[in-house]
Amino acid sequence: DESLFSAVESRLADYLEASAVSARNLQAEKDAIKTLIGDISHQTKTPIANIKIYLELLDNEEENTEKQREYLEKIEGQTEKLDFLLKSMVKMSRLETGIIEIHKKPCSIYETLGRAVAAIVPKAEKKKIGIYVECPENLMLCHDSKWTEEAIFNILDNAVKYTKEDCPPKSRNIQIGVAVQEFFTKISFKDSGKGIAMDRQAEIFRRFYREPEIHDQEGIGVGLYLARKIITMQDGYIDVQSEPGKGSCFRIFLPNNSKESYE
Ligand code: ADP
Repeated sequence: DESLFSAVESRLADYLEASAVSARNLQAEKDAIKTLIGDISHQTKTPIANIKIYLELLDNEEENTEKQREYLEKIEGQTEKLDFLLKSMVKMSRLETGIIEIHKKPCSIYETLGRAVAAIVPKAEKKKIGIYVECPENLMLCHDSKWTEEAIFNILDNAVKYTKEDCPPKSRNIQIGVAVQEFFTKISFKDSGKGIAMDRQAEIFRRFYREPEIHDQEGIGVGLYLARKIITMQDGYIDVQSEPGKGSCFRIFLPNNSKESYE
């Protein structure tokens, strides 16, 4: 009857008003986080740049003792780390809060892969690690080329970093393969590095997780976290198969029939 109808109508109006308020609050919160991240990023740039300049000036002093040079080198290393840490944290929070959006469109996976490989080659050459790629040149896949390149670079960077120079040069290599499967395109990265124990294979994708034995290597433990985030934001997934001492195989799966997204 009519009174029941108007009661439902009024409840519905209350509900719609409440949900509009919470949507506005959410947007306000998102804007506040955006401003805060922007401020942190902007305000830390100048002091870090200044520290680097003063370090360079000190480095050029001729009367520096051996000890002073050693400490300067350490401060330089820590400053680089701080710089990288801040940039990574800003990037992570921007991805998490949706400030950075991922835009997928059909483009060549060969080219995305090519750019990431080109960026890692100098580092791989220094350690005499060969990189072999098997990928159809004309393969088009709906993905965000810039961000996927970053995810691939992080995996390749690790493959180089965690391959010891004491293994024979012939077996020091990274094999990259691309295979189109029924629903996903698989991009695999097989290395001849130190390998990862089974009980740590889920842990390594956590933010700031680093295995205890690798602390002599540079890094802050966000590379794989970011790689996974970038791939899952594209409706894909990432996994690893590995055995200590026998190398690792990281695999990225990106959906074949993905909807394009534009700003
Ligand atoms: P980072 O390299 O800065 O420590 P990541 O998030 O990239 O951080 O990796 C997390 C951890 O996973 C590393 O500290 C390392 O212990 C392990 N790991 C990653 N990639 C490899 C690999 N290819 N071979 C062996 N261990 C790896």
